[in-house]
Amino acid sequence: MPDSIAPQTTEHFDCLILGAGISGVAAAYHIGEQCPDHSIVVLESEKSFGGTWWTHRSPGIRSDSDLHTFGYRFKPWIGPPIATAEEILAYMGDVIEENDLAPYIRYQHKILAADWSEADSLWTIDAIRTDFDEPVQFTANFLFMCQGYYRHNEGFTPEWPGIADFKGTIAHPENWPDDLDYSGKNVVVIGSGATAATVVPAMTDKAAHVTMLQRTPTYFRTGRNAIEIAEELRELQVDETWIHEIVRRKIQYEQTAFTKLCRTKPDVVRRDLIGNIRNLLGPDFDVEKHFAPDYRPWRQRIAFVPDADLFNRIAEGKASVVTDHIERFTEDGIELKSGETLKADVVVTATGFNMNTMGDIGFSKDGQPFAFNETVTFKGTMFTGIPNLAYVFGYFRGSWTLRSEIIADFVCRMLNHMRVTGAASVRPQLRPHEQDMELHSWVDEEDFNPGYLLRAKDLLPKRGESRDWRHTQDHWREKDEFPAIDLTDEVFQYRAKSQSSVAAE
Ligand SMILES: Cc1cc2nc3c(=O)[nH]c(=O)nc-3n(C[C@H](O)[C@H](O)[C@H](O)COP(=O)(O)OP(=O)(O)OC[C@H]3O[C@@H](n4cnc5c(N)ncnc54)[C@H](O)[C@@H]3O)c2cc1C
Repeated sequence: MPDSIAPQTTEHFDCLILGAGISGVAAAYHIGEQCPDHSIVVLESEKSFGGTWWTHRSPGIRSDSDLHTFGYRFKPWIGPPIATAEEILAYMGDVIEENDLAPYIRYQHKILAADWSEADSLWTIDAIRTDFDEPVQFTANFLFMCQGYYRHNEGFTPEWPGIADFKGTIAHPENWPDDLDYSGKNVVVIGSGATAATVVPAMTDKAAHVTMLQRTPTYFRTGRNAIEIAEELRELQVDETWIHEIVRRKIQYEQTAFTKLCRTKPDVVRRDLIGNIRNLLGPDFDVEKHFAPDYRPWRQRIAFVPDADLFNRIAEGKASVVTDHIERFTEDGIELKSGETLKADVVVTATGFNMNTMGDIGFSKDGQPFAFNETVTFKGTMFTGIPNLAYVFGYFRGSWTLRSEIIADFVCRMLNHMRVTGAASVRPQLRPHEQDMELHSWVDEEDFNPGYLLRAKDLLPKRGESRDWRHTQDHWREKDEFPAIDLTDEVFQYRAKSQSSVAAE
């Protein structure tokens, strides 16, 4: 950073948490509870908390997993399981207020760079206050990366020919124009994932017609937006804390069983999922063409459609689905490879994300830049040779937050262990017998292969052969494996503060 804009002061914290989304707030809560003698700060580039739920403003925005498991284990969720962004933000607001977390969060602080000093065992973090366009600097012993997995406010939009000729409005769900009025308009939503599946039924409220234009189909599950056992326990006046815990266990157990079934009996699952859509859309609808993907169920996230609203709007004729490829945009719509044209006043590009690797921060060690794709991941949360840093990457199939809390517990245990043993730094290392382990890209494409991950796979850390060196996506086992990690294992290389820096203090 040039001297002319150098920050005036540097504040120090034991742990700096990046991001005030669902993971960053979990991190702040658990460190506060489990490591009360550690000082913390949360830096967040947006104006408020919530991450995904704060930045996404498109119509109908809602979760696609249940809030008993997407919510925190320590705060019961008492609403319907699938929740709107507004409801999730209100829940997070309550968590922040009830636990007095607000004083620890600094908004409009965008982190730009982090440099590790080997001599001082310290991260120096350069950020910019986006409200005043002013540089600020922090030092921290430990960096807890809760930045999520994609760039906010910058969705992925393919470069289609003729897009500049289009005279209507183009909106990406990550950059929703506040003043977009689609009343009486023809809307085309490009995409087939969870976002498209929410935007399409939501926009039928005012649009003349909404068309979902997809290249390939996706699997969907449908059901009532309610959990029977929760309803029954409520009737019995069981305490909400118990209901939350019971429902969480049931969902986690059933999700694990469903994932197993997708591997062992993919044809049965496929037949059930597609059969359900056929029942909703009737015998004349070409379900094979529009809702029968050619991959094994669960290789991409299966979105839950509450009350089957997407399919009901299609059955009512308010929405339709077209499976085709875009040839080019025209002045008033989209020309498809099949020769068909779609007239559009508004095009919504629900075409996915650009991955964010480690908050898009410039990382260095003693001033020398390093890249995370040169490291191997320890359980998808720490990286070989990278000191005092942990990262949250949640589950694809289960709720993200389940993993945020498991990792927060692990970080708390590690911080306390280091405090007790006097270690100034910890970094994972391959054990002697693992030095020649075969390494692969982070993504196991056989297991899970959404486009945003494949586009970014060369930027991500490497994965090894054994469970210790990969993000297994297996919550049912991880919930027991993480608490059992032996912090004295040779996989962790601890270092005391270097003598020269101790003497200088
Ligand atoms: C529309 C949508 C629906 C989803 N629904 C579900 C669901 O139902 N269930 C589920 O499990 N998952 C869902 N996901 C995935 C979802 O992103 C995660 O579950 C979860 O919200 C991620 O939380 P997070 O806190 O880890 O990251 P985010 O929500 O991405 O928050 C990260 C925060 O870090 C901040 N940040 C990033 N870089 C920097 C920086 N350099 N400096 C300062 N701050 C920074 C960001 O501003 C952001 O506020 C959904 C995703 C989308 C887009």
